[in-house]
Amino acid sequence: MRVLVTGGAGYIGSHTVVRLVEAGHEVQVVDDLSNSSPIVLDRIEEITGVRVPLDVVDVTDRGAVTAILAQHPVDAAIHLAGLKAVGESVEQPLRYYRTNLDATFSLVGAMADAGVRTLVFSSSATVYGAQASPPFEEDLPTSATNPYGWTKVMQEQVLRDVAAGDPRWRIALLRYFNPVGAHPSGRIGEDPQGHPNNLVPYLAQVAVGRREKLLVFGDDYDTPDGTGLRDYIHVEDLAAGHLAALETLAAADAGGVRTWNLGTGSGTSVLEVLAAFSRAAGRELPHEVVGRRAGDIAASWADPTRAHRELGWRAEKGIDEMCADTWRWQETNPAGYDGPPA
Ligand code: UDP
Repeated sequence: MRVLVTGGAGYIGSHTVVRLVEAGHEVQVVDDLSNSSPIVLDRIEEITGVRVPLDVVDVTDRGAVTAILAQHPVDAAIHLAGLKAVGESVEQPLRYYRTNLDATFSLVGAMADAGVRTLVFSSSATVYGAQASPPFEEDLPTSATNPYGWTKVMQEQVLRDVAAGDPRWRIALLRYFNPVGAHPSGRIGEDPQGHPNNLVPYLAQVAVGRREKLLVFGDDYDTPDGTGLRDYIHVEDLAAGHLAALETLAAADAGGVRTWNLGTGSGTSVLEVLAAFSRAAGRELPHEVVGRRAGDIAASWADPTRAHRELGWRAEKGIDEMCADTWRWQETNPAGYDGPPA
C-alpha cells in the first residue's frame, strides 16, 4: 500500500515508518518538524535502505494536505501528528484543542476529497480518564483529566461520526498505553525537547548525566510497592500494532470504526522501571521520593484481548528490553538528533 504518515518524523512515527517500509509499503511522511528533526529521515534510510520522502507541512493546512494527496496518491493514512504534552495542554488549552482538532478536520477532509477513506488514528489510553480501574477494555466510556486527553476523546468522536455518515470509511482508533524503548539499532528513539515529562525519557537523561536524579512522584498509592503502575509497551511492538491495524482495515469486508488497545496487559511500578533501567545502564540510578503529581492515577493497564483476537497482534518485549534499547539510543545520542554523537 501507499501510506501517508502524519507525524512520521516523531518518536512513534519514525518506528512505524520503519516497520511499514520493511513490510513493503510505500510511505510518504508529512511532518512540520515542530517537535522532530529532519535527521530522522537519514536514520530511517540507514536502517531500511529506503529514502522516505518528507513534506514539511503543518497538517492543519488543509490546502497543503490536499496538494500532497494530489501529488502523491495514497491508499491510506496513519495520523500521528499533534501536540502531546499534558502539562502544556493545561496552560495552553485553546492551542491544543485548535491544533489537534484542526489537524484531524483537515486530514479527513482532504482524504475524502481525494477518495481515500482508510485511516489509522493515534489515540491514547488517556481516554479511559480517571474513573475506571484497570484493566481497561475498549467498551468503557471515555473521558479525560486534561485538555490533551480531551482532544483525543473528541477526535475519536469526530472519527466515529465521520464513519457513521459515510460507511465507506475504515477507521482504526489505536489506544496506546505507555510507549517506551527505541529501535534496537540505537539510531532512532525518543528525543524530548526541554524537560522530559515521562518516566523513561527522564530516567534516560539521569543515566546519561543530563539530570541529577529521578523524582518518584508518590509512594503512597494503593499498589504493591506504593508507586504508580503503568502498562509500558515497546515502541517496536507499537509500530507492529499499526501495521497490523492497517492491514486488518484494508482486508475488512466492511467499513466502520474499530478500536484497539495497544498494551501488554500488565502493570509495572515506577520502582520496577527504575530497577530495570539501572540494570540496563549498569549502575544504580539515584532517586528521591517526592509528593504525588497532580492528575496522576494509581494504575493503568490494558486489556489487550481484542487486539490479540482481531489483529493477531500481541506485545512481545518486556521492560528489560525496553530499558536496554532506550539506553542504547540515549548513550549513543546523548543530546538527541541535533547534538554531537557520543
Ligand atoms: N513518574 C515519576 N517521575 C517522573 C515521571 C513520571 O515518578 O519524573 C511516574 C508517574 O507518576 C507515573 C509513571 O511514572 O506513575 C509514568 O508516568 P509517565 O508520565 O511516563 O506516564 P503517564 O503518567 O502519562 O501514564
